[in-house]
Amino acid sequence: MARELFADGYRMTPYWQDIAPKVTLPDLALPPETDVLIVGAGYTGLNAALQTAGEGLGTLVLDAEHPGWGCSLRNGGQLSTSLKPSFATLAKRYGKELATQLCQEAQASLDYMHALSREDGIEMGLREVGRFHGAHKPHLYRKLEQECAAGHPVWKTDTFMVPKAEMAAELGTDAYHGGIVFPHHCSVDVSAYHPSLLNKALASGARVKGACRVLSIERLATGFEVQTSEGTVRTGKVILATNGYSGALSPWHQRRIIPIGSYVIATEELPKETVDRLFPTDRVLSDTRKLVYYYRLSPDRKRVLFGGRVSLSETDPRNSALKLHRDMTALFPELATVKISHAWMGFVGYTFDTLMHAGEDDGLYFAGGYCGSGVGMASYLGMRIGQKATGLEKTPSAFERIPFPTRPLYTGTPWFLAPSVLVYRMRDRLGI
Ligand SMILES: Cc1cc2nc3c(=O)[nH]c(=O)nc-3n(C[C@H](O)[C@H](O)[C@H](O)COP(=O)(O)OP(=O)(O)OC[C@H]3O[C@@H](n4cnc5c(N)ncnc54)[C@H](O)[C@@H]3O)c2cc1C
Repeated sequence: MARELFADGYRMTPYWQDIAPKVTLPDLALPPETDVLIVGAGYTGLNAALQTAGEGLGTLVLDAEHPGWGCSLRNGGQLSTSLKPSFATLAKRYGKELATQLCQEAQASLDYMHALSREDGIEMGLREVGRFHGAHKPHLYRKLEQECAAGHPVWKTDTFMVPKAEMAAELGTDAYHGGIVFPHHCSVDVSAYHPSLLNKALASGARVKGACRVLSIERLATGFEVQTSEGTVRTGKVILATNGYSGALSPWHQRRIIPIGSYVIATEELPKETVDRLFPTDRVLSDTRKLVYYYRLSPDRKRVLFGGRVSLSETDPRNSALKLHRDMTALFPELATVKISHAWMGFVGYTFDTLMHAGEDDGLYFAGGYCGSGVGMASYLGMRIGQKATGLEKTPSAFERIPFPTRPLYTGTPWFLAPSVLVYRMRDRLGI
């Protein structure tokens, strides 16, 4: 029965990759030297490249696969202020001043995306559609209500509650006990953003090469010698932009980034009446589960893109697809017979403090650890770290000023993932 849920010709690659315009990279022999070498051609690397190339620095962006192969062409396209810990938690950890600055920069990441889209002409289909965040237990609705009433010391406080009785105007499901709307969260057309960013980076003078894996980075008296699968390059500065795909290239970072699989399905095209009834708004959607579901319509409003973490450990997207379909159907029973056209996964870069980080160690720059919320943050911190590499920006980001923790015995393989998922799953059932 289950296998029948896959549409004929279904694909195990991201829906976005099917519809994204193809960017042809100029043929590029590896240059012997460059001013800045960026490892990774996703949002972080390309936004950094816009800055360094824009300032006239020789900028070489290398990706082990093709540019956009990582999360930047796999994600859900949901854009928010991106911080997981509450203001109270941040203030307790770092003091009120730094907590405020972290929140201000989170807001700046959202503003940056608006500016990229409006002023820099980067196509991303950015729409301020708002987010509906559903309460999967009654007491969690009351908790959201309290949070809504308390407001936020930094962010706009025009969030509002939607009680269960008024849910039909937001979402065609009985599964939530109401929810909260964040009006300024946005949706992005993932298939448009990365190709447009890549074109802009190329037009700014960055040289971009795919199928070129960086194998090692050796520090010299001045600058670095970088060994790649295609040869050796000397560079003044290195920017590590590998996030959830950070391997052993920099063991210090590897010990601080936790690669965790996130899984998505796209449905086949649905009848317009079904879409309009189940999804009367174009909002991005999520809920109060710790193992969160994130979902939305495709930009053409024809498919549901439904994502989440459904396995204890990493699994084949074919297996996760069936579980995601089951969970989607629990929310929307009439989608029970709708088939899956695409199923895919990607590795998000988590951190032990559930915050993103940036920093520099004498010419080696890094931004990453977006904890699954990197559409805006990878773009913004990529830009900040790129500016820093130009030498023009001297003020460190707040995300450079917080400690970047690891744990004893952690070397890059999250052996604790399955037990953690199990605990979260239990907490979700109990609503704690
Ligand atoms: C399924 C899924 C859903 C998501 N949904 C959302 C969402 O809705 N909203 C949101 O804000 N965020 C979301 N995210 C997270 C977001 O997509 C990422 O945080 C963001 O794309 C990170 O961009 P990046 O450039 O840092 O990394 P990536 O885009 O992952 O790029 C890293 C690149 O580094 C390259 N690389 C690695 N090692 C080497 C090497 N040694 N040499 C050369 N190249 C190397 C890889 O090939 C890869 O292309 C999601 C992620 C996934 C997987």
